[in-house]
Amino acid sequence: MTIFAEIKVYNTLSRSLEEFKPLYGKRVFMFVCGPTVYDYSHLGHARTYVFYDTLARFLRRAGYSVFYLQNITDVDDKIVNRAKEEGKHPLELAREFEQHYYEDMKVLNITSVNLYARASDYLPEIFEQIEGLLRNRYAYVTETGVYFDITAFSDYGKLSGQKPEELRVHRIEPDLTKRNPGDFALWRARPRDEFGWKSPWGYGRPGWHIEDTAITLKHFGKQYDIHGGAIELSFPHHEAEIAQAESFTGVKPFVRYWVHTGLLTVEGEKMSKSLGNFVTIRDALERYDANVLRIFLLSRHYRSPIDFRWDLVDQAKNNFDRIVNSYNNLLEMDITDEASEGELKLIKKIGELKENFFNSMKDDINTAQALADLFEMMKLVNAYADGHGLITEGGKLSLASTYNDLLNILGLRIKGGTDISMLNNLITILIGIRSLLRKRREYELADEIRARLRETGVEIQDTPQGTKWRIEELSEEESRSL
Ligand SMILES: [Zn+2]
Repeated sequence: MTIFAEIKVYNTLSRSLEEFKPLYGKRVFMFVCGPTVYDYSHLGHARTYVFYDTLARFLRRAGYSVFYLQNITDVDDKIVNRAKEEGKHPLELAREFEQHYYEDMKVLNITSVNLYARASDYLPEIFEQIEGLLRNRYAYVTETGVYFDITAFSDYGKLSGQKPEELRVHRIEPDLTKRNPGDFALWRARPRDEFGWKSPWGYGRPGWHIEDTAITLKHFGKQYDIHGGAIELSFPHHEAEIAQAESFTGVKPFVRYWVHTGLLTVEGEKMSKSLGNFVTIRDALERYDANVLRIFLLSRHYRSPIDFRWDLVDQAKNNFDRIVNSYNNLLEMDITDEASEGELKLIKKIGELKENFFNSMKDDINTAQALADLFEMMKLVNAYADGHGLITEGGKLSLASTYNDLLNILGLRIKGGTDISMLNNLITILIGIRSLLRKRREYELADEIRARLRETGVEIQDTPQGTKWRIEELSEEESRSL
């Protein structure tokens, strides 16, 4: 199914739904702000990263070749402070939490990222950008560091819709060496005994915003397709990224589609450690399967706020159980040789619902609607299984691969799911070869295939209507425990 050129995404920059057209044909360059690795990742992270993983999966399924790049912020005050508390080197602490982050992502089946880039590996690129911004007079040096002068970039505020005179001051302590309160640091002077690097502007550490533009400029060049992240990052972080990159390269827009995920609250409140409602991904995974969490997070549109409540996750669990049951119902259906009228109708209807699923995803990645399409599909399959109970091999295979296809896009894993569809394909191929051998009267080899298949639990039966087969191990118990 080719679905190029029909995908629509909401662009925060234009505040409108736009047709998605990558810069270079079928290639897509996507960057998403990664975590600052000083603590375990929480549910807000899960929401963001599950969504962009799903977006990447869908774009790939739609035929695009996606390069998904994510940064790891391993240089930050929060890391330095926590490392001090624990008596560790900041990079040692950062590596530990980076590992924990990968573990969480793995469990959540977030597998679409091509490259994780650590900020500390991009000091030369950061220096180059700061030098360029100083040269073009967008930046200035004071005794506390190097700052970007937001009044020098007339587009400042275009992403978040704020006017320069209304811009909030986002630093807690006013730095009197700065020209404007909203000027942000590209480089911050630090005492010699703290973690940092030597630079042409003295000892210190890079600012947060410049890490990302240094990384994307190196891998994607002056302009790329999608920048993702949570909506809270749009100001000042993403605004600052635009200012840096566009001032440095002169190319506008630096990013063509700014795609932001909505807020996540817990029991109606902003998640924070002081409120005691801080839920890490690990906490949640102790109670629920990763599939359940993904369904919960994808059951709201990515731009809508989402409120995490355990009873809603229970609902998501029921929904996941429905998926597993429907899949098992399908696998357990007995095989018939000739497709009934009911089966033909079912296959046609499932084809339409599959189309609906893709249309929902094409419509600003509406995973909530796509899930509804999937459940509709499963309802029909369940009803058919209850009513008729018989299906052709081809029909079963086709429905199973549709399930696998759609579940894959959403990053849902049914134990053995994909394997079964693959297994079915392989068995069909082997049986085809065996028939060919029999026609050529090479019975010895044909019997060998049959014997080997039996060893693995596949029973072949030659009937006047052709060869039938069934997987012994997948009947009853085995498939129920999938
Ligand atoms: Zn970022």
